[in-house]
Amino acid sequence: MRRFIVAGNWKMNKTVEDAKTLAREVVDQVAGVENVDVVLCPTYTSLSAVNEVVKGTSVGLGGQNMHWEAEGAYTGEISPAMLLTTGCQYVILGHSERRTYFGETDATVNQRFRAAVAAGLTPIVCVGETLEERQSEVTEQVVRRQVSGAFESVESGDAGVSIVAYEPVWAIGTGLTATPEQAEEVHAIIRDELSKLYGEGLAGKIRIQYGGSVKPGNAADLFSQPNIDGGLIGGAALDAESFAGIVKAAG
Ligand code: PEP
Repeated sequence: MRRFIVAGNWKMNKTVEDAKTLAREVVDQVAGVENVDVVLCPTYTSLSAVNEVVKGTSVGLGGQNMHWEAEGAYTGEISPAMLLTTGCQYVILGHSERRTYFGETDATVNQRFRAAVAAGLTPIVCVGETLEERQSEVTEQVVRRQVSGAFESVESGDAGVSIVAYEPVWAIGTGLTATPEQAEEVHAIIRDELSKLYGEGLAGKIRIQYGGSVKPGNAADLFSQPNIDGGLIGGAALDAESFAGIVKAAG
C-alpha cells in the first residue's frame, strides 16, 4: 500500500515573509490529515524560514532543483548538503521548466538524481511529454526514455524510496488537466518501465505523483486512479486553502 504524497512547488514566487505566512496557513489547514505526506518546495531563499515553520509538524520541505557537485564554481547553483542544512528532505529534479528554460537533459537529471540519493535526499523526478509529442503519439517513448534516463545506475534501494512525478507539459499552468484516464494510462507505463528496471515488487512501492493544473475540484478523481499516488502542485499550491483542499482529497 503506497502512502499518498502531495507536494507544493512554489516556483519563483513569494518573498521570505510571504513564504512563512503561506507555510503557517498550510500547516494549520492540513493538521489532522492522516495518510498523506505533505511537502512544501519554496524558493532557495525561503527554505530556512519555511523550515522554521514546518519543523516538528507533519509537513516536509523540499528544494526545487539541485546541482550534483558538492561545491565549486557553479554560479547560481545549490548543492545537496546546502539543501540538507536548510532542513530539506526532498528535492524536485528535472521539472519541465528546468528542461525547457535551463537546458536540463535526461543525463543531467540522472547526475542530480544520483547525487541527491547519495546525500540522503528524496528526489521527486519529473517526467512528461510536450503537446507536440502527445499529438505525434510518442508519449510512451518519451516517458519511458525519461524514466530510464533518470534512474540509470541508481541502486534499487535508492530507487525504492524515490518519487516520480508525471507532469504532461501541456497541462502545467495551462488550466488543461489530463483526464484521470489519460493520466492513469501514463502512470501505468511509468510503473511498467520501473518494473523493467527493478522488478514488479519494487516498482509497486515507488510513488508516482500527477502534476498539471491539479485543483481541489479535480484532485479526488485523479487520486482515485490505481497508479496515481498524489500530486505535484504548482499554481494551486500558492493558496493555502486550495492546496489543503487537494491534500484532503488524497487523505
Ligand atoms: C508544476 O509546475 O509542477 C505544476 C504542476 O504546475 P500547475 O499545478 O500550475 O500546473
